[in-house]
Amino acid sequence: MLQNDQIALWDRESFFHPSTHLAMHARGETPSRVIRTGSGVHIEDRDGKRMLDAFAGLYCVNVGYGRPEIAEAIADQARELAYYHAYVGHGTEASITLAKMVMDRAPAGMSKVYFGLSGSDANETNIKLVWYYNNILGRPEKKKIISRWRGYHGSGLMTGSLTGLELFHKKFDLPLSQVIHTEAPYYYRREVWELSEAAFSAQCAARLEELILAEGPDTIAAFIGEPVLGTGGIVPPPAGYWPAIQAVLRKYDILLIADEVVTGFGRLGSMFGSAHYGIFPDFITIAKGLTSAYAPLSGSIVSDRVWKVLEQGTDENGPIGHGWTYSAHPIGTAAGVANLKLIDDLGLVEKAGRMGQALKKGLTQALAEHPNVGDVRGEGLMCAVEFVENRAARRMFDPQRKVGPAIAARMSELGVIARAMPQGDIIGYAPPFCITQDEVDTVVAATADAVKAVL
Ligand code: PLP
Repeated sequence: MLQNDQIALWDRESFFHPSTHLAMHARGETPSRVIRTGSGVHIEDRDGKRMLDAFAGLYCVNVGYGRPEIAEAIADQARELAYYHAYVGHGTEASITLAKMVMDRAPAGMSKVYFGLSGSDANETNIKLVWYYNNILGRPEKKKIISRWRGYHGSGLMTGSLTGLELFHKKFDLPLSQVIHTEAPYYYRREVWELSEAAFSAQCAARLEELILAEGPDTIAAFIGEPVLGTGGIVPPPAGYWPAIQAVLRKYDILLIADEVVTGFGRLGSMFGSAHYGIFPDFITIAKGLTSAYAPLSGSIVSDRVWKVLEQGTDENGPIGHGWTYSAHPIGTAAGVANLKLIDDLGLVEKAGRMGQALKKGLTQALAEHPNVGDVRGEGLMCAVEFVENRAARRMFDPQRKVGPAIAARMSELGVIARAMPQGDIIGYAPPFCITQDEVDTVVAATADAVKAVL
């Protein structure tokens, strides 16, 4: 094995890390963390430190680490046929089987799944198809996409634009001009404290409608949203939000993209967030939970109504001009088949719902009365605790104090990984679905200890 000093040197010299403070890392002011192995909800670094990963990597290792069933499916596929493309009607048994399995699980009204590699590229696919759809229908002006502040949809050119977090725009000349943002359904941060959830949802819908009217309904093609806001702070929607939003979209013939990269395949305790909240999308974006991150794979599920127009488009214009070399990669799709089987065999969707309730209850009991805890929230295995300087005023801490990162760092010293969300002092939890009650208790206890140490 390489010496630690050697690895740290190579890391600083050669490796351009995503979402990292590059200058600090290059100067050696941030640690080089080398993860060696994982099993269940635990990972272990090369120094032998074992950590309970209460964020499942980046909320993606849903079945937990070290599953031999998926590892073997990947190895078998690599031995049999590592690659063949999916262009002009080609496929493999794995890609076709996975498509069938995805569509068997998808909500009603959906037609086909296109496979990509990442959540970002799946959303790029969705937007291209939205534009294609409107061009085929003879409405070339209907092109703008509405997303929400605090939404996260990737970090490509279009998807980074859709993402409603400043960090992903600043100095990148984003958002692109076709993207506009509306408000997040962030009930805890409502302007009028007395407003009920239903009234707040109605307000979000009314503001969306105002925006659409101001821009011109004939220019708005689609609305994209995560069933539960993820990276933007783990914010479940207030009661009545999705029906109210969909009523507005229907009124102006605007397509709906449900970005289920995090919520797809069980994280909320339902197979899809769309089914969970009564969302009827035209596109569903899937990624992380599709393979539990054992291999990179994503998908765009398109509805019957969109599919019909895509068929019409290719009859009129020839083959669809869209595809990646690695679309429906056999190794990724083999991992997906094994992963979805495992989720069924172990009853993990139901377990995610049950353990999610246990985690939210534990966090609430341990923390809700703390003077610096403003909100404890969650749906299924997506939970968050939001910290504030003043609870009555919901006043945030000075960002320079970095309260969220300090709590996450202390938890990490205690052997538990939770995520300091990028905006606000919010600690996020999204563990693998196989987490046990004892492990939930460990996560809650580490949070309470870290809070005591930092605040
Ligand atoms: N959409 C959502 C809701 C996400 O949470 C993410 C990533 O976290 C993405 C899209 C982008 O996925 P990827 O990082 O695989 O490109």
